[in-house]
Amino acid sequence: MPYPDAAAFGDLSVLARLTEELDRFNAFEGPDPAGRNRAAWTEHLGTRLPQEGAGLEAVLEDLRKWIVPNGLRNGHPGFSGWVTTSPTTSGTAAALASTVAGSQRVWVHTFNYLEKLSLDWLKQLLGFPENWHGTYTTGGSSANLIALGAARQWAVEQQGFDPSMTGLPAHLKWRIYASSEVHHVVNRAAAVLGIGRRNVIGVPVNSAGEIDPDALQQRIAADRKEGFLPMAIIATAGTVNTGAIDPIRRLRAIADEESTWLHVDGAYGMFGILDDRVRERYDGVAEADSVALDPHKWMAAPVGNGVAMVRDRDLMGRAFTLEPAAYLEGSMGQQDEVVASPFDGFGEILHEFNLDQSAPSRGVQVWAILREIGKSGMTDRVKRHNGFARHLSALVEKDPYLEQLAPVVLSICCFRYVHPDLDESQLNELNRQLMAALRAEGDLVPSSTILDGKLAIRPCYVNPRTRLEDVDLLATRAREIGDALAQRFKESPTR
Ligand SMILES: *Cc1c(COP(=O)(O)O)cnc(C)c1O
Repeated sequence: MPYPDAAAFGDLSVLARLTEELDRFNAFEGPDPAGRNRAAWTEHLGTRLPQEGAGLEAVLEDLRKWIVPNGLRNGHPGFSGWVTTSPTTSGTAAALASTVAGSQRVWVHTFNYLEKLSLDWLKQLLGFPENWHGTYTTGGSSANLIALGAARQWAVEQQGFDPSMTGLPAHLKWRIYASSEVHHVVNRAAAVLGIGRRNVIGVPVNSAGEIDPDALQQRIAADRKEGFLPMAIIATAGTVNTGAIDPIRRLRAIADEESTWLHVDGAYGMFGILDDRVRERYDGVAEADSVALDPHKWMAAPVGNGVAMVRDRDLMGRAFTLEPAAYLEGSMGQQDEVVASPFDGFGEILHEFNLDQSAPSRGVQVWAILREIGKSGMTDRVKRHNGFARHLSALVEKDPYLEQLAPVVLSICCFRYVHPDLDESQLNELNRQLMAALRAEGDLVPSSTILDGKLAIRPCYVNPRTRLEDVDLLATRAREIGDALAQRFKESPTR
C-alpha cells in the first residue's frame, strides 16, 4: 500500500484533463445522451463496493468518459425549466478554490473573511440595511427554515418563553400566513419547526397571483378568535409559478398591526429589484424582519448557495447558537487582529447563526461573481431576462394560436397553444404532448405548470447563456409543434 495513504494528492494538474471534458460538456453538442444511454452508464457504474481501489487514473477515466458526458444539461442555452441554472466560470473557479484552500469557513483566513464581505456586497447590491445579519445556507429551503426559526424565536419570546431552550409551550397555538402560491419548502420548514404544515395558511391570491391583503386580515382575525397566534406573515417576492410579487409594504403594515414578523421569500425573485421596471414592487423589503434569497438561482452560483438575512443578530444567535463546546472554546483564543496562528481566532463567527457547524465556504462564490461582473453585470442580466419574458409575451400576443396565461412580472412567461376546434381537456393534453416533444428535441427545455386548470408552458429565464434567438425559437417551435398536434387531434378526436 502506498505511504502514507492510498489516495493520491498533491498533483492537481490532472484536473486539466477534466476541465477539457467539462468544456466539451458545456458546449452541449448533439442530443442529450443521459436519458438515452441510461442502460449503458448504469451498467458501467453500478458495481458493488470495490474491495481494492482502482486508482486515480480509473476515477478520472470514468469521470471523463461516463459521468460528465451523461450529466445534467440545465446550463444549455435553451434550458429554461427551473429557477436554478448551472454555474458560470468565476463561481466554478471559486468553488474549486474553496474546496482545496477554504475547506471550512471558520478561523482566520481569506475564505472566512469573504463569507462576511460578500454578504455585505449582497446587502449593497439589493439595498438592504447594512446591519442585517446574514448567513449562507445550502439553498432557499434552509434559508427559509432559518428565517422562520428566527421568527419563531421572536414570537415565542414575546409570550415569555424561550423556544430554543425549553421548546414550544403546549398551550400556545401558532399560524404562519402566506399566499396560496407560497413555495412548499415553507410548509416543510413549519413542519420541522414544530408549527405544523397545516398551520401554514395559504391565503387566496388575486388574478395576478398576489396575496389578497383583506383576506389575510380576515383570516388572522378569525384565527385569533379560535386562539391562534400569528407567528409570521410571509411575502413571496417572485413566486416560482409565475413570478408574482406580493405587496410587501402592505404586508409590513398588517404585520405591524398584528405585532408579528414579516419574512420575504425572494429565493428566486429578490434580484429582480435591480430592474427599474419592477423595482417599486419591492417597496418595503428593507423593512422586513427577514429575507431569503438564492445566489444559486439568478446569480448562477454553484448549487448549494442560499442566504438568510435577519434584522436582529442577537435574536438569530439565540435561536441558532451552538452551545459552548470544550473543544471549540479551547481553540477559540483571542480575537485580536493579529494572531500567531489562524487557529487562535474564530475569524467571523458563522456557526452560531446557522444549522451547520462544518460547512463549505460559499461567500467566495458570490464574491467572485460580483468581482467579475459587478452590480452592472447583474443588473444587465436581470433586465435582459425580464426582457426575454416580455419579448416572448409580445410574440404570444401576436400569434392567434398562442395564449398567455399569467401576467409577466419577472423572467417567467406562462403561455400555451390554443385552437378553436379543441376543448379544454384536449388543449391540456395537446400542450402536455407539446412539452414532451420539446423536451425530446432537447434544444428548448421549459417546464410546465397548471394555472386555473390550464396546462401552461413555463419558461423561466435565469440562465446567463440564453440568447434572444432561444426565446424566439421557443415561440416558433411551440406554434409549429402545436399546429401538427392540433391536426392530429382533429383527425382522431378521441386521441
Ligand atoms: C427556489 C425557491 C425555494 C427553494 O429554494 P431551494 O434553493 O430550491 O432550496 C423557495 N422559495 C422560492 C420562492 C424559491 O424560488
